[in-house]
Amino acid sequence: EPVRIARSGAGRPGYVTVRGAREHNLRDVDVELPRDALVVFTGVSGSGKSSLAFGTLYAEAQRRYFESVAPYARRMIDQVGVPDVDAIEGLPPAVALQQQRGTPSARSSVGSVTTLSSLVRMMYSRAGTYPPGQPMLYAEDFSPNTPQGACPSCGGLGRVYRATEASMVPDPSLTIRERAVAAWPQAWGGQNLRDILVSRGVDVDTPWKDLPRALRDWILFTDEQPQEPVYAGLSPEQTQAARRRRLEPSYMGTFTSARRHVLGTFTNSQSALMRRRAARYLVSEDCPACHGKRLKPEALSVTFAGYDIGELSRMTLSDLAEAMRPAAEDRLPDEDTIPATLDRDAGRQDRARRAAAGASAHAGAPDVRVTPNLSIEKRLAAQRLAADLIDRIGTLTELGLGYLSLDRVTTTLSSGELQRLRLATQLRSQLFGVAYVLDEPTAGLHPADGDAMHEALAGLLAAGNSLFVVEHDIGTMRRADWLVDVGPAAGEHGGTVLYSGPPEGLRDIEASRTRKHLFGLAEPHRRPRRAPTGWLRLEGIVRNNLNGVSAAFPLGCLTAVTGISGSGKSSLVSQALLELVGDRLGRAVETDDEPEDPLDEAPGPTEGRIVGGMEAVRRLVKVDQKPIGRTPRSNLATYTGLFDAVRKLFAATPEARRRRYDAGRFSFNVAKGRCPACEGEGFVSVELLFMPSVYAPCPTCHGTRYAPETLEVTWNGLSIADVLGLTVERACAAFADEPSVLRPLAVLRDLGLGYLRLGQPATELSGGEAQRIKLATELQRGQRGGTLYVLDEPTTGLHPTDVDRLMLQLDGLVDAGNTVVVVEHDMRVMAGADHVIDVGPGAGNRGGTIVAAGRPERVAEAKASRTAPYLREALD
Ligand code: ADP
Ligand code: ADP
Ligand code: ZN
Ligand code: ZN
Repeated sequence: EPVRIARSGAGRPGYVTVRGAREHNLRDVDVELPRDALVVFTGVSGSGKSSLAFGTLYAEAQRRYFESVAPYARRMIDQVGVPDVDAIEGLPPAVALQQQRGTPSARSSVGSVTTLSSLVRMMYSRAGTYPPGQPMLYAEDFSPNTPQGACPSCGGLGRVYRATEASMVPDPSLTIRERAVAAWPQAWGGQNLRDILVSRGVDVDTPWKDLPRALRDWILFTDEQPQEPVYAGLSPEQTQAARRRRLEPSYMGTFTSARRHVLGTFTNSQSALMRRRAARYLVSEDCPACHGKRLKPEALSVTFAGYDIGELSRMTLSDLAEAMRPAAEDRLPDEDTIPATLDRDAGRQDRARRAAAGASAHAGAPDVRVTPNLSIEKRLAAQRLAADLIDRIGTLTELGLGYLSLDRVTTTLSSGELQRLRLATQLRSQLFGVAYVLDEPTAGLHPADGDAMHEALAGLLAAGNSLFVVEHDIGTMRRADWLVDVGPAAGEHGGTVLYSGPPEGLRDIEASRTRKHLFGLAEPHRRPRRAPTGWLRLEGIVRNNLNGVSAAFPLGCLTAVTGISGSGKSSLVSQALLELVGDRLGRAVETDDEPEDPLDEAPGPTEGRIVGGMEAVRRLVKVDQKPIGRTPRSNLATYTGLFDAVRKLFAATPEARRRRYDAGRFSFNVAKGRCPACEGEGFVSVELLFMPSVYAPCPTCHGTRYAPETLEVTWNGLSIADVLGLTVERACAAFADEPSVLRPLAVLRDLGLGYLRLGQPATELSGGEAQRIKLATELQRGQRGGTLYVLDEPTTGLHPTDVDRLMLQLDGLVDAGNTVVVVEHDMRVMAGADHVIDVGPGAGNRGGTIVAAGRPERVAEAKASRTAPYLREALD
C-alpha cells in the first residue's frame, strides 16, 4: 500500500489530532485526543481499539522516532509498513507497554527485568561484609550469568543433573527387549543398541533386575563406545551362530551407554523438546557446591545485612525491603573487627587476574578494608544503596508485586504481572512529555489491587505524560478523563469511533455496547445456581505458598477461584489441581503448550492427594491464554482442524482431479503446493538490530503463501488463499452447505470471533483470542460430559459483552455434564458462578489459605475476605 503521510495544517493545541486512520478495520477515523490526560479506549474485542492505539498512534510515534535517529531505518520501515493514516498532529514520543503476543521471552528474571539485580550486585560489591582477608569483588562477580561469577561446579545453573539406574530404568521388571532402558533413543536407535547387546551375548529377554550388577552398570554407565557387528533381524541364537561362523554382518554398530546418550542429548541438543525428553531420565538436585545459589564461593562469602546474595534473591520483595531497612537507616551492627594483617598475596593475585582479563585494575582495592575512614564511606554507600533499593521495591509492592522474588524466572509470570513489572520500571524512569500506550494494565488484578495501579497511572500523568490505555475494566473507564469508544461491533462491523469525550457523554450513545456496562444498565447474567453432583476433594496441597491446604470443587458446577494477585489462585488451580488430577488420570493434561526448557521448570511436583470425586472425572482439559502457535505458520484454520476439511473440498474439485492435486497440495506446510520463496509462511522475517524481529509480506507470493499453479484451482470461485483471507463470518456463509467446515466456524462465530480471518497468523492473535479459539476447538468436539475444564483468567482482554458470551459457552459446558473451574477477578463472572473459592487473605506468604468458599451470596458475607465487598456490589 502506498505511504500516505501528509503533514499539513496544525492540530488543536493540547490535543493529538488523528485524521483518516485506516489501519486494519478502522474506517477513515478522525479523532481528537487530549494530551496530559488519561484517555481510555473501549469497545468489544476486535472493534479496533488496538488498531487505533497501537497500530496507529504508537506505530506512527515509533516510525518518527526511527526516522529521526537512523535515516537507514527508512528501508526497514517501508518493509514493516507504516500506519495507514492521513495525518497525525501533536503526537508526543510514545512508549508502549503491550502484553506480549506470542513472542517467546528470553530467559530473564524479575531482577533483570527491573534492573534491581544490578543494584543489589553493586551493593554487595561496594558495601558488603567480606570475610577477613578476602579482596573486594566487582559487581559482575555476583552475577551467575558471567564467567567470573558463575559457580564453577554447575556453570551457574544452580542444579546438577545425574543419571542413575532408577532414573534411566523406571521399571526393572521389564527385559531389555521390552525397553527396560527407557532412556535410550526410541525407534531405530534403541533397536540398534539392543542388537549390539545381542551380538555381545547379553540376554535381552531376562528381566533387567535379574541381570548381573556389573553388566547392568556397564550398559548404563560405561564411557567406552565399542564397535560390534550387527545381524539385523536374527534371533539371539542365530546371531551367536552367525558370529561363530564369521558371517558378514548387516553393519557395524557403535554402542553408547544410556548415561552417555542422555547427558549428551541434554547438554548438546538444539531442540528444547529433546532436552526435555532427556531431562526426564535424569535426577536433578541443588548443586552441592553453591546449594542452588549459582555463584562462586567467593561471591557467596560476602554478606549484606547478614544474608548472602543468593538468599537475598530468593526472598519476596517485601521481605527484602524489610531486611534492607536497618542498613538504610544506618542501624547495621558494626562489622567484625578487621584483622590487621591482610592477605596481600590474594590481593595481588586478584589484581593480576583482573589485569589479564582485561578489566581495569582497581589499584589498592583490597586495602580499602583496613582504612577506618573508608569503612565509613562504605557505610554511607550501604545506606544510600539500601535506601534506593527500598524505594524501588516500594513501587513494585504498590503495584501488588511484593510477593515476587528477584530470582523468579519471567517465563513463570503471567503477562499482566510482566506488564506491571515493566510499568514499575517506567514509573522510575522519570520521563516526561511522553505518551504511554498501555494494553489492559488491570489484567490479572483483583479489584482490591486496582487502586495502586490507578495511583501509578496518576503518577505518570502528574509527571507531565499522556496516557493512552486500552481497557475493559469499568473502574478504569470511570476514572478516565476521556473515553474513546470504538465499535459498534468487531472486525468489519466495527472500526468507527462512536464517541470521543468525557465519560459522562457516553450515556447518550445508543450504539455503544460499552454504555450499558459503564452506566449499570446491563441486565445481570442470572440463572438458578446448580447443585453439585459430587465433590472433587483435595487434601494436603503443598505448592508455592500453599502449605497443606484442603480444597473441594463441586462437580457439575461452575466454580470461580478468586483472591488478590499472588494469593495462590494459580498455584491451587493451574498447578496443584491440574497436576493431581492429571496424575490420577494417568496421563498428561491435554494442553498444547510448547515444550518449555527443562531449566525453566517450576519447583518440583505438587504434594497432596485427591480423596474423593475422581470417579466422575474422565478427562482434564486446560484452556489458557498461551499462543496457539509461535510462528505465522499456525493459524486458526489449522489449529481448529477445519482447514483439513477445506483442503479435501479443494482436492475434490474437477480441476484438482484433472491435475492430480491431492489435499496435501493445498497445504502451505507441504512443499509441493506452497510458495518456495517463503516456504508457505507468506511472510519473511526481518531481523532488526536491538529489537525483536518482525515479519514482512513475502515479495514472491505477496503473502498468499502458495505457488501460482495451486492458486489456479478454485472452489466456488475462491482460491485456497482466498479462503484463508475470509473472516469467520464470511466463511460461515461460503461454507453454509459443508457441515464439516461450518460446525467449527459457527462455534467461533458464537464466541464473538466472527471478525478473525481464517489465515490470521497465530502471532497476531491476542491471548484472549487464542483462548477462545482453544475453547471453540473443544466445544466442537461434541460434549461427552465427565470433563474437568480449567481456565486461568479467561476474561482477560474481553469487553463485558464478550464476557457474557463466554459465560454462555461455559454454562453450556456445565449443562452438558462437565465441571468448569476458572481463576477469575471479574466480579460478574463470580456473581454468575455456582461456587466461589476465595484464596488469601494476602499475597505470597501472607496468603495461601482458603478464606471463604460457598455460593457467591455466602462468600459475599465472609468477614475476612477482601473479595466480599466487591462481590456484594456485583450481586446487588
Ligand atoms: P481490539 O483491540 O478492539 O480487540 P484490534 O484492533 O486488535 O481490536 O482488531 C481490529 C480488527 O483488525 C480485527 O478485525 C482484527 O482481526 C484485525 N487485525 C488486528 N491485528 C491485525 C493485523 N496485524 N493484521 C491484520 N488484521 C489485524
Ligand atoms: P495468584 O494466581 O493468586 O496470583 P500464584 O499462585 O501465582 O498467585 O502465586 C502464589 C505465590 O506463589 C506467590 O508468592 C508466587 O510468587 C509464588 N509462585 C507462583 N508460581 C511460582 C513459580 N512457578 N515459581 C515460584 N514461585 C511461584
Ligand atoms: Zn553450583
Ligand atoms: Zn511466498
